[in-house]
Order: sequence, then structure tokens, then C-alpha cells
Amino acid sequence: MSVCTGVAVSHGIAVGAALVIGRFELEVPHYRVEEEELRAEWRRFHRARRQAREEIQALRDDTAGKLGKKYAAIFDAHRMILDDRKLSRETMEGIRDQRMNCEWALAKTVHRLLSVFEKVDDPYLRERGGDIADVHQRLQRILASQSNHQAKPLNLTEDTVVVAHALLPSDAIWLHQERIVGFVTEEGGKTSHTAILANALEIPAVLGVEGIADEVRHGEEVIVDGFHGKVAISPSIEMKQEFLGAREEFERIGRGLDDAHGPVETVDGVELTIAANIEFPEEMKTVKRVGGYGVGLYRSEFLFLATAPKLPSEDDHYQAYKRIAAAAEGRRVIIRTLDLGGEKYFHKVLAKGEANPVMGLRAVRFCLSRPDIFRAQLRGLLRVASEFGNVWILVPMISGVAEWRRVRAFCDEITSELAAEGVQLSAVPLGPMIEVPSAALCAGDLAKESDFLAIGTNDLLQYTLAVDRGNRAVAYLSNPWHPAMLRLLRETIVAGRRADIPVSLCGEMASDPLGALTLLGLGLLSFSCNPVMISEVRSVLREASEANAREVMLAAMDLDDGEQIRRFVEEAFSPLIRRVIGDELAGRTRSET
Ligand code: PEP
Ligand code: MG
Repeated sequence: MSVCTGVAVSHGIAVGAALVIGRFELEVPHYRVEEEELRAEWRRFHRARRQAREEIQALRDDTAGKLGKKYAAIFDAHRMILDDRKLSRETMEGIRDQRMNCEWALAKTVHRLLSVFEKVDDPYLRERGGDIADVHQRLQRILASQSNHQAKPLNLTEDTVVVAHALLPSDAIWLHQERIVGFVTEEGGKTSHTAILANALEIPAVLGVEGIADEVRHGEEVIVDGFHGKVAISPSIEMKQEFLGAREEFERIGRGLDDAHGPVETVDGVELTIAANIEFPEEMKTVKRVGGYGVGLYRSEFLFLATAPKLPSEDDHYQAYKRIAAAAEGRRVIIRTLDLGGEKYFHKVLAKGEANPVMGLRAVRFCLSRPDIFRAQLRGLLRVASEFGNVWILVPMISGVAEWRRVRAFCDEITSELAAEGVQLSAVPLGPMIEVPSAALCAGDLAKESDFLAIGTNDLLQYTLAVDRGNRAVAYLSNPWHPAMLRLLRETIVAGRRADIPVSLCGEMASDPLGALTLLGLGLLSFSCNPVMISEVRSVLREASEANAREVMLAAMDLDDGEQIRRFVEEAFSPLIRRVIGDELAGRTRSET
């Protein structure tokens, strides 16, 4: 029995058997192949080896030309590894005897070889492990690009807690199943995509737990406390009872928070909207249950992951957005165009390998470089907007006015195209996401040519403070109360107000009662939260005075140190938060943010 700690990112308490996913196996697909598929699987493996050999040869020649033979020899070593008989024999045996798909059989073989290398004393030989890993990655990449396999759901028969070194958002589809009740990872922070997904799926999660993937064994009982950031491994009966008792208590408090469907108005009569951030159309059920005011952010990239390796067709887009708009029953639905790329999502169309993808060809930049993909999405989206109305289009990662004009021109072109086909369209609101500091600084200019603005604090924080949102080592710097962040937020909100257009905010900051009160004080009126947090945030905002929140923030912004501002704001707002949502929840809110 032991208890580890990490960062609580998604509330709730879950108990289940551990499904441990090691660092190495993470991106490797795993499924069973049938007898009649064995030959095809072998052929896939040999084809991949052939392609790898050609690539390595080309690299070798290139290196020899540029740097000389000495350096080219690295690739001779790679070719020898690729041709190693053991590697291919064991992989083929794995496919045949254990009916593993070839990616998995290869990973297992390499894993075993690497563990032998790790034990060798000779540093030179140990280093050769790196070459094996390199060749392995090359083979896996080739296999991924050839694969037509759609991830098959795991056949889980008991409640399961996924314990992993890290989880990619592209694992989301795979993880979106009933028996998965909790996540624990070594990597990732509060605004990482795993955290956001866990919230969206209403799965308790604790991230940033050092060494957990080595500590827990498959099948071991694990409790995930997503309120306090604790993970209990093989808990005693008493400990389990304690956790389950706490779960009941939280559920009781949650039920009593407020009635879900009334208007949201502060005590001094300022009207607010609180919408939901969603990733899957299925989440509309939760949004309705918690009474969210429509959808403030639909992350459409998850649709791309669902159809991978194929791209979604115009009709796939149309069907997905139609489901959401129909379920929203006339309430506003903001659909964000594709935000693939960066650290977030893997998709075949992006398999180019950039040195610095977070600042690379991602989101709108990628869409503008692939008008075919952008066109299919916008056509599907505009068709739904024409049928349902109140569907708004949000474009991620806009960095300046010129880029924004290109997007607008492209949308106009597609609107005309559809009009020529007889699709009736009244003006569909189009807005940039403000999540790059340059966009926040130019928010006034952007606002003049936009129908609305939506602030994304997750990326804005990452780019403003140069803090990788998924890196635990620098998570301590990720403070939304940093004066630079507060100034950018205030400027953006003011810019929207001056241009008389709505400004909403869909980053994680709005899903935290303390963050939401801070934003109210900065003048924000439209919030979009994780569905599971809507009830808490709404309850707190309803009891707040806008005038008072403004005063608090006016004084807070005179301070120059983010930590000091955070403490100041906490002191000012904690009594209200405690009164509304209770000591336990308020305590959690404070320690996590
Ligand atoms: C954000 O960056 O704040 C945001 C809402 O978008 P995402 O988390 O999907 O990057
Ligand atoms: Mg973002």
C-alpha cells in the first residue's frame, strides 16, 4: 500500500484496476490479428523494413557528402540493426505465435533488446541502445503511415484506471469508453490536453506523478483522488472506505450547488453567460444536464482523430456539427476550426516532423496551407449554420491582422460558392481566438474586423510566459495571475468592448471559481467552461458582485508580482468561494490553481 501525489486536474474519485502503459509502448497500436491476416502482417513488416533501408541509405549518402564518411558510419550501424536477424525473427514469431499486430510485436522485441543493452557496463555498447531506438522509431513511423487499421476498442471487463508515462490526445478516442474510470500520468499539467480531455470525459485524473508507471503493476487496485491529487496503490480496506466516503460527500455538495437552468446574474444585476467546452458531440447530454448556455468551444480536431487515418469528408463535418447544433436547441454553438498540430495531436496529414511544432505549421496556419481540408470543414460548418442559425465560427492561433484577413477572404469565397449552390446563409459570426500574445496586443485591430473574440488562456499563458503547458518541470511558472497575462486579458476584453462585439473566454482559467471571479473583475461577461465545472462556476458567479470584483482587480493590478497577485486575489475571493461551495471544494480550488 502506498500513496503518491501529483496535480489534481479532473475532479472526482475513482477506483479501478490499473492498466499500465509504459513510456515505450505509448504510441504503438495494439490489436489482435486473425489467422488469415498473419501473412499480410508479415508483409507489412517487410515492406516497412524495405522502406527504412532506402531511407537510411539516402541519409547515409547525404551525410557522407556533407560531413564525410566518419559520420555516415552512424547509418551503417542503423542498417545493421535493421538487418539483424534476431529483430525480424522475434517480431515475426510474435505476430505468428501471439497474434500481435506487427507494430506491437516489433515494440516488444525492441523493448527486450533495449533492456539487455541497458545492463551492459561498456558505455559504448550501451549507447548502441540509442541506435536501436532510432531504427525502431523509423519503422513505427513508416508502419503508422501505411496502416489502415482503425483502433479497436479494448475489451475491458472491470473498472480500469489508465496509468501511463504520458497520454497523447490522440489516445482520446481509444480512452473514450465506459470501463475507463481514471487517469494517472507522469507527465502533463493542469492545462495539458490530457487534463482537458479527462475533464471533458468526466474522468478523475491526477497528472505529474513521478515514477508512477514503474510503481504500479497491471491489475493492481488504484484509487485516483482528482480533488487532492492523490493516488493510492493497493489501498487497505480502511483507506478505501475513507476515499469512498469523501466521494459521497463531494457528490452531496455538488448536487446541492444550484438549479442548473436559471439565468446567471451577479448580485448587482450584471448578466453573464456560461457555456461549455466540448470535444465530442456526445457531450451535449452533459451540457444539457448541467445547464450550460450552449457551446463556447467545440474542439473540432477530435473529429479528425475519430476518422484517422482518413480525413473527415464535408459530410462528416456536417453530420457532427448538426448533432451539436440540434442538441443545443437554438443556443449559441461556437465551433472552432481545426487546431491540429503543435504538441497536441497526431494525424497522418501532419507527419512531417517539425523541429519546434508548438510554433510550427499548426492550427490556422496549417488550414491555410491546405485549402482542401479547410474548405471541407468550412462548407460542412456553413451548411449547418444555414440550417440551424446561431452557429459561430472560431479560428484558432490567429497571430495578426493579415492572417485574419486571409481567413475572412477564404470564408467569403466559400460562402459565395455555397450561395451559388442555393445554400441560404445569413451572416455567420466569425471570430479569431486570442491565444497568441501578438493577437492579444493587436486585439483592437482584430476586433474591428471580427464578429466576436474568444480568448484561449491555455495557449496564451504558454506563449506569454514561455512555459510549455505539458511540462511538469516548469509548471510552477504557469501562473495566470502573472501581471503580463492580466494585462493582455484586460486589453483584449476592453478591445472587444470598444468595438462593441462579444468577448468570451474558453481557457481553463474560466473553469476555476477563483479564475472566473478574476475574469469577472477584468470585465469578462461570457465564460466557457468544462461541463463538469459549470455548476460550481455558475454558483460562485451568481453570488458575486461585479462592482466588487472590479475593485479587487483594480487593486490587484497595481501589484507587480504574479505570486503576490494570486495571494491577494485569493484572500479577497476565498470567503465567497467558501461560502458558496464549501470548505473542501474551496480548499481544493486554492491549492490547485
Ligand atoms: C486555449 O488555448 O486556451 C484553448 C481553449 O484551446 P486549447 O486548449 O484547445 O489549445
Ligand atoms: Mg489553444
